[in-house]
Amino acid sequence: MHRIKVRVVEDALDANNTIARANREDFDRAGVTVINLMSAPGAGKTALLERALDDLGDVRVAVLEGDVEGSLDAERLASLHVPVVQLNTSAGFGGECHLDANMVRSALSALPLADIDLLIIENVGNLVCPAEFRVGEDVRAMVCSVAEGEDKPLKYPLMFRACELAVVNKIDLIEHTDVDLDRLLANLQTVHPGIEHLICSARTGEGVDALRDWLIDKVAAARAGDGTFTPAGSAPA
Ligand code: MG
Ligand code: ZN
Repeated sequence: MHRIKVRVVEDALDANNTIARANREDFDRAGVTVINLMSAPGAGKTALLERALDDLGDVRVAVLEGDVEGSLDAERLASLHVPVVQLNTSAGFGGECHLDANMVRSALSALPLADIDLLIIENVGNLVCPAEFRVGEDVRAMVCSVAEGEDKPLKYPLMFRACELAVVNKIDLIEHTDVDLDRLLANLQTVHPGIEHLICSARTGEGVDALRDWLIDKVAAARAGDGTFTPAGSAPA
């Protein structure tokens, strides 16, 4: 029984990767760099995007906003006058707690791929399964707020291993918590040695320039042909 179960999971990830590759080809054809942005609910993905996407220079950006239901975040981002497409997992995808390649594919025709350089996919807030599903992105990044505690990399290692950038958000709150920032960063390095991190506050704007520069650098690297897509079902070792 156990073997059959494992087989089913592998097949599902294979099917996802096939669609992720098709998405990837569409993104490549349009010259779009894609970031899959993940975090627990409430870590501040949307708030950081509100700050960072305000001025990306000549980089034309759009956002694919993933939520189980509603369009609250999409409405916030639409005020930046960037194209925003809402993808609800409750609409035909069983209310899933993550985005997968097929869901993203269903939204491609609504995205102005020919007119953008950067697509940010804001995944459903969840520290677990979004990390298991490639959607055709170039790069995966995650936000962890200091309010979540310093132990999260140790408790949800796949997410932290799957991403090449961890944005430590809500640094303005740290004095109101018992969190030791050095311990949090050490836990991050334990789980994913060499992972890049940025210290930010979407509330005060601290560190947002560095996040903006990171996004612009990713577009520049993709333009230079330095693609990093590896169609693995799970994180690289
Ligand atoms: Mg959000
Ligand atoms: Zn899920």
